[in-house]
Amino acid sequence: MTAPVRFVILGGGPAGNTAATHAARLGAEVTLVERDIVGGAAHLWDCIPSKAMIATGGAMALTRRSGGLGLADVDASFDLESLGPRNAAITERLSRSVSTLLESQGVRMLRGSGRLKGPHQVVVETDTDVIEIDADAVLLATGSRPRVPPWAEVDGERILTTRDAYPPPEIPEHLVVIGSGVTGVEFVHMFASFGSKVSLIVSRQQVLPDKDADVAAVLEADFLARGVMLLKGAKAEAIDRGPDSVVVRCDDGRRVAASHALLAIGFVPNSENLGLDAAGVESDRGFVPVNHHGQTNVAHIYAAGDLSGKLPLSSVASMQGRKIAEHAMGLHTRAHRHLDYDKAASAIFTEPEIADVGLTESEAFAAGRKIRATKVPFAASARALIDGDARGFVKIVSDPATGVVLGGSIVGRNASELISVLALAVTAGLRVTDIVESLLVHPSLAEALADAAE
Ligand SMILES: Cc1cc2nc3c(=O)[nH]c(=O)nc-3n(C[C@H](O)[C@H](O)[C@H](O)COP(=O)(O)OP(=O)(O)OC[C@H]3O[C@@H](n4cnc5c(N)ncnc54)[C@H](O)[C@@H]3O)c2cc1C
Repeated sequence: MTAPVRFVILGGGPAGNTAATHAARLGAEVTLVERDIVGGAAHLWDCIPSKAMIATGGAMALTRRSGGLGLADVDASFDLESLGPRNAAITERLSRSVSTLLESQGVRMLRGSGRLKGPHQVVVETDTDVIEIDADAVLLATGSRPRVPPWAEVDGERILTTRDAYPPPEIPEHLVVIGSGVTGVEFVHMFASFGSKVSLIVSRQQVLPDKDADVAAVLEADFLARGVMLLKGAKAEAIDRGPDSVVVRCDDGRRVAASHALLAIGFVPNSENLGLDAAGVESDRGFVPVNHHGQTNVAHIYAAGDLSGKLPLSSVASMQGRKIAEHAMGLHTRAHRHLDYDKAASAIFTEPEIADVGLTESEAFAAGRKIRATKVPFAASARALIDGDARGFVKIVSDPATGVVLGGSIVGRNASELISVLALAVTAGLRVTDIVESLLVHPSLAEALADAAE
């Protein structure tokens, strides 16, 4: 009998914990090293607390719109004190369920900071010990943290990163959000829902510069309707802090005086002190490049999640972890389906929500590729009218010759759920007729998908 593969994983976020569970199921002897909580930054700082706060803001926004739903005199007052404990309770519960799953698969969990000592050795520093572990395979899944530029001094009080915002010490009277990518617009939405005045610094001419223009336009219209000030074509270059205020200075001379500023300008990988040199693992500006199996330049050392510099999504990190576990256990065959990053669905939890998958119209246009794009507004949807929110649309991009669904965008209520249908269609190579001929629920928002597929 051969000895089980000794698989050591650094980082217990979506990439690390999924790889650990899967590899253990496949028979590996797995050690998972996590310095903070199992579930990772995704549970503690990123996906979960941000969406929990947005859910609270969404409930408040709904009460403000309740007149349109036939209700009178509904008013919600906001309880700042309860937000932190609510976030903590959700995070703890999720982390506990991940730990239980790992335990049930026999994964050895070590709380501490890990690093490579050599190609086959990992060192873990716990509160009390320094432990050396021999490994046949190693996964580096140590994630990332918010990027703080040299011109900003984050104090957690008035100059914040996203990690200071769950919730901040007080709800800002006027918040300047710096950065108009996915994270930036979610925080604009979150704090606008809480009643803060919000200004958004948009370095280009469109919020969400990587999205289709018509998708971004719906969000911009919503922001403007809610009184959000958009400073387009401006790059922040300094923040001056006063006792009760901040002033954000932009490169075009504009200045915004506010009560708080929040940085949402990307992230940096957690790769310092990982011992990459000791094991001969190459890095590129802190990221650890990988091939389509998730291998670094050292074949038995893998990297996944934000550290790998691929799509920074929790869902992608988990799938990378799964595929890496299979590869490390020798389960890859010629028929093995590689992770196709171009088919990852993603969502932006604003109001309306925005979600997309696969090829977008603008990408097809840029590549000179012939496509069929069909678009249906929710204004024609019975369910959207019943719910009192008919903003947005569904757009499906397909191959004009074969009808195969290549991608799609949804802007509107529950877009983050509805996109699953298109994600399945894109992954499975379904045709538009497959969607048209599905017997869907009526009245449902999903009917708009069938209409757009027509
Ligand atoms: C505000 C915000 C909201 C987001 N919302 C979403 C969303 O809604 N949906 C989505 O799909 N994605 C979202 N993301 C992105 C998502 O959070 C990341 O892509 C995901 O967390 C990456 O997972 P990971 O496994 O690489 O690492 P992480 O979740 O970052 O976990 C890495 C873990 O490694 C640990 N670690 C680091 N160094 C060591 C070491 N040396 N030894 C031991 N442990 C170590 C850390 O403590 C951490 O727990 C969001 C990001 C942000 C910033």
